[in-house]
Amino acid sequence: MPDFDAVLIGAGHNTLAAALHLAAKGWRVAVFERAPVAGGAVKTGEYTLPGFRHDWAAMNLSLFAGSPFFKLYGAELAKHGCNFVPAAKPFASSFPDGKHVGVSTNLEETTALIKALSPEDAATWNRLFAGFGAEAPHLFGLLGSPMKMRALAYFMFKTLRAKGVGGTLDMARFLLQSPRQYLTETFRHPHVQALLGAWGMHLDFAPDVAGGAMFPYLEGMAGQAFGMVIGQGGADTIVKALVAAIQARGGVIEVNAPVTRILHDGSRASGIELADGRKITATKVVIAGVAPRALTRLTGGTTPAFDAGMTNFAHAPGTMMIHLALSDLPDWKQPDLKTFAYVHIAPSLDQMARTYAQAKAGLLPDEPILVVGQPTVVDPSRAPEGKHTLWVQVRMAPGVILGDAKGEITGTDWTDATVPFAERAMDILEAHAPGTRAKTLARRLVNPVDFEAENPNLVGGDQVCGSHHLSQHFLFRPMRGHADGSTPIRNLHLTGAAVWPGAGTGAGPGYLLARHLVGN
Ligand SMILES: Cc1cc2nc3c(=O)[nH]c(=O)nc-3n(C[C@H](O)[C@H](O)[C@H](O)COP(=O)(O)OP(=O)(O)OC[C@H]3O[C@@H](n4cnc5c(N)ncnc54)[C@H](O)[C@@H]3O)c2cc1C
Repeated sequence: MPDFDAVLIGAGHNTLAAALHLAAKGWRVAVFERAPVAGGAVKTGEYTLPGFRHDWAAMNLSLFAGSPFFKLYGAELAKHGCNFVPAAKPFASSFPDGKHVGVSTNLEETTALIKALSPEDAATWNRLFAGFGAEAPHLFGLLGSPMKMRALAYFMFKTLRAKGVGGTLDMARFLLQSPRQYLTETFRHPHVQALLGAWGMHLDFAPDVAGGAMFPYLEGMAGQAFGMVIGQGGADTIVKALVAAIQARGGVIEVNAPVTRILHDGSRASGIELADGRKITATKVVIAGVAPRALTRLTGGTTPAFDAGMTNFAHAPGTMMIHLALSDLPDWKQPDLKTFAYVHIAPSLDQMARTYAQAKAGLLPDEPILVVGQPTVVDPSRAPEGKHTLWVQVRMAPGVILGDAKGEITGTDWTDATVPFAERAMDILEAHAPGTRAKTLARRLVNPVDFEAENPNLVGGDQVCGSHHLSQHFLFRPMRGHADGSTPIRNLHLTGAAVWPGAGTGAGPGYLLARHLVGN
């Protein structure tokens, strides 16, 4: 095999985005992926029955479609088949009292749903949305900015000029707030608070975790402004297009190729070694799209401080997926819920806080939160005519089970606990959409251990590859001094969800790194 300028470990969408940008700048790139297919947490397959296409993990591609990377490469990716389907009704919540509330890109529809619960909250929603256009550049500017002193100083300067001292301090306070602080001081009705609070749980922000207010706000406002997009035919539309675009630019992508070692002399990286013994030379950089602890294993150790930072990097609780092939959509108690891409079953901030605390303590939550994705509502091509798929994410689930908060499930091994825990989730779904079990033609369960076995970056089923709590976010992701993916070894860089700006399909870590390497 020839030498390459850049050798990349793992074919998650972040390394693929980095590889495409480097290839576009003329670098010779090669990506090595241990799994049989590229994509990492963005994968689609017929996991239940033929003709039913399920997103194995990520389903919502709004972050990718709205990313600076996609802005630059969207047209190229479209030529290679990348295609999205918009959902004008992105998310809603179903409540045990039979009520529901949701967000639609039609402001009048959203307002009517919120108003039915609280006219005051409906007015607040409209006021917040009217101000979103002015707030968005600051927040998205921060999330898209490299965590470098110069870039941050420029960001601060721009924010101060636009908002003044008081406005900048208000923004800083908002960034530090927990979801509960922000939501309870902004909205009156507990259902509206829960509707937005559920978004914090997609990351690692339970209601009382400082620094989590931004995500419920941004997801709410972005849902109102843009809706949601999912992949036409499956989330893997972005991966197939990325792979094709890299190959069209002369890049190499090899699957079934686990990387077992990063070659270096203690100060400079020179390549990688594969499980089959082949050594691949990187003349410019090695980019590792792996979890921090795995980086230490691959290097065999760097400096004590850096290795300690990688070893101490904290992971969030795990997640479990239930993939269902259905004869028909669930019969929600509120039929309107059939029209939303996501239905959250997360009844209150207190319930979310309790679920999170239980999972953190190693307990199977007595009432897990459900994110019920209904992709075939907007993309019928994913199932045979008239049939549907359901993407049910069970949040949170401990990677290692120490017990059951409800005292019913005795197994502490996921082999024994998977089915009873899935039945607990199905009972919750049945309570909101009776008869869903009877409509189930087939199902596939993916527990936290399965997730990690398929993709070692999902440590203990942690879907965000590392908690985003403040001590591991911004300048500290994955650790102070390395938020740009640099390591103590020259020419070796870390990328992926563990690096600023973190998890999700926005390709931020990979694209920021590639831009840094080529000088834009
Ligand atoms: C269940 C679930 C649902 C999610 N839902 C959403 C969603 O709807 N929307 C959203 O925006 N985000 C979602 N996310 C988060 C998002 O999918 C991830 O944050 C993102 O895809 C991570 O991308 P990545 O490039 O960092 O790496 P990953 O996608 O984790 O890929 C890493 C790749 O590296 C490979 N690899 C690791 N070690 C080696 C090695 N030694 N040699 C070779 N290859 C190696 C792995 O096999 C894997 O393919 C979800 C995640 C999960 C798990």
